[in-house]
Amino acid sequence: MHCPFCRHSDSRVVDSRTSDDGASIRRRRQCPQCNRRFTTLETASLSVVKRSGVTEPFSRAKVVSGVRKACQGRPVSEDDLALLAQRVEEAVRATGSAELDAYEIGLTILGPLRELDEVAYLRFASVYQAFDSLDDFEAAINLLRMEHAQALAASDDESAPGSTESIG
Ligand SMILES: [Zn+2]
Repeated sequence: MHCPFCRHSDSRVVDSRTSDDGASIRRRRQCPQCNRRFTTLETASLSVVKRSGVTEPFSRAKVVSGVRKACQGRPVSEDDLALLAQRVEEAVRATGSAELDAYEIGLTILGPLRELDEVAYLRFASVYQAFDSLDDFEAAINLLRMEHAQALAASDDESAPGSTESIG
């Protein structure tokens, strides 16, 4: 690790701290040549195996760029995308495997994207899951509708906790 100030090729660790979530270690380093201090962040590497067989490091930026197109014209901000990518990374790390294929990453994106914007979700799912007919869209939309109805029914129950009425 080169010193960012004088480009000296060595540095001494003066302090190490694990982040709250345990996913990274922050090290405070000092350059023996210019004596200036800088910080490095160390995370466990997470690899993605692409369909071509090529392995590359997991990247939140790649998640964001993969999802951005599906979010065009939708009320989704850059912050939303960054948060989505963070959730995807957390979910991927939680699987405990150091190597995942690109398909699994895509599956992991679907859940948080659906919570973010359902239209973007349908767009992404249609490409990702290779919808090839209107029936595929219809099935996905019906599933969303059904879950909306269930969510609505559940919130109705909660809004009337003292109610003794029953339906049917
Ligand atoms: Zn230096």
